[in-house]
Amino acid sequence: MDAIVTRFPPSPTGYLHVGGARTALFNWLYARHTQGRFVLRIEDTDAKRSTQTSVDAIFEALEWLGIDWDDGPYFQSRRFDVYAEYIQKLLDNGHAYYCDCSPERVETVRQAAMATGGKPKYDGACREKGLGRGGDTVIRFKAPTTGTTVIEDVVKGDIVFQNSELDDFVIARSDGTPTYNFVVVVDDITMGINTVIRGDDHVMNTPKQILLYHALGEPLPAYGHVPMVLGPDRARLSKRHGAMSVTAYRDMGYLPGAVINYLVRLGWSHGDQEFFTREELIEKFSLEHIGKSAGIFDLEKLQALNADHIMAAKPADLFAPLCPFLEKHMEGLQGELKCDAWMEKVIETLQPRSKTLEDMADQARFYFGDTVDYEEKAAKKILKPAAAEPVQCLVEELKQLDPFEEKALENAFQAVMDKTGLKLGKIAQPVRVALTGRTASPGIFEIVALLGRKTVLQRLEKALDYIQTRSE
Ligand code: GLU
Repeated sequence: MDAIVTRFPPSPTGYLHVGGARTALFNWLYARHTQGRFVLRIEDTDAKRSTQTSVDAIFEALEWLGIDWDDGPYFQSRRFDVYAEYIQKLLDNGHAYYCDCSPERVETVRQAAMATGGKPKYDGACREKGLGRGGDTVIRFKAPTTGTTVIEDVVKGDIVFQNSELDDFVIARSDGTPTYNFVVVVDDITMGINTVIRGDDHVMNTPKQILLYHALGEPLPAYGHVPMVLGPDRARLSKRHGAMSVTAYRDMGYLPGAVINYLVRLGWSHGDQEFFTREELIEKFSLEHIGKSAGIFDLEKLQALNADHIMAAKPADLFAPLCPFLEKHMEGLQGELKCDAWMEKVIETLQPRSKTLEDMADQARFYFGDTVDYEEKAAKKILKPAAAEPVQCLVEELKQLDPFEEKALENAFQAVMDKTGLKLGKIAQPVRVALTGRTASPGIFEIVALLGRKTVLQRLEKALDYIQTRSE
């Protein structure tokens, strides 16, 4: 069998949204799974709605997701000569004709067809007139009027259309510009596309496209129309269900691997497996297991999966994507952020506790900077006079602790427990608030070791001062 060639043809009229990204992923994964080719094409023939900003946003999102292409990007706006050649082919082989009906006349016949219970279609008045090109002529496709056109859909099964309901649609406007369904077919033919996976909002276009293939004597691609992504209320996904743009998830601290995993699982399954690496998706993806029902976008599930991907990542791999969040959270941060052994350990302590990188950076604040701000509630509740004794006692232990390492630290805390008769929790909580400003943090021995003796002693002394001022 020939190599699989798939494509992603976004219209650059906005950012890459969640549904579009899922379509891109299905096509990309299928090409990668079969060691075929994946083509990127920008459908920018609608000059009024297409913008360079959208083109850039689409590239940026694809790059972030790690979706790479083997061919393209092609721009439809630069391919008018190819379309002209194919229009001429259809005129020459009798599958297209010039029509000079006025828009008003066309509208009247469409209304009349509807009034008698039919589809609003053009009546084919110019079909046999043999008109040539004129100032106001469009070119129409001569569609068959009997029989059926069938989409043999790999997702939905056969979808049958009565040709009597299809009309002689326009393939070139009076200014010569080709229309949407026509250019899609010409592109898919000339780019060697043999597998078309797209949203089922395109189902109504497909019979027209199939008829064009037949008229051009070209073999059909395999089609798969994928159900839309819906919000939890089963309405079509929109802004009110959460961010629509893929890169907005990057900016909220999601990992591309998690977003990919989530989007693919929204319309495809492999048993009951939920967590997939990129490599696993490539290995396991198949068209057979694309679901027939709509995927429901659930932000909480995405967040849970993101937490799993953060947990599974190597700390060093999280450093680069985490940096912008650290910088945002720590204005006036001293020195450069470096991915050294210390930083990797810092990340490791936060991995089990972070849903997003934003969340991780927020929890990482106490590791950086000279001082720590107390959360008011935490300080009030925990840094009470009764905490002074164990904190003071720990200060004495830590001053002389050598080496200042996790194992030795356990002994230092044990010594404080012995001396004060307090349980570990009663000592660890004030120390935690003193060091992090909060009542929740990574393990106490880990953070003491990572902050180092100087910082820990400074912060414990500061906490003692705070306790002192409270008891005055
Ligand atoms: N440009 C179309 C869109 O963005 C896709 C067309 C197709 O997949 O055939 O929805």
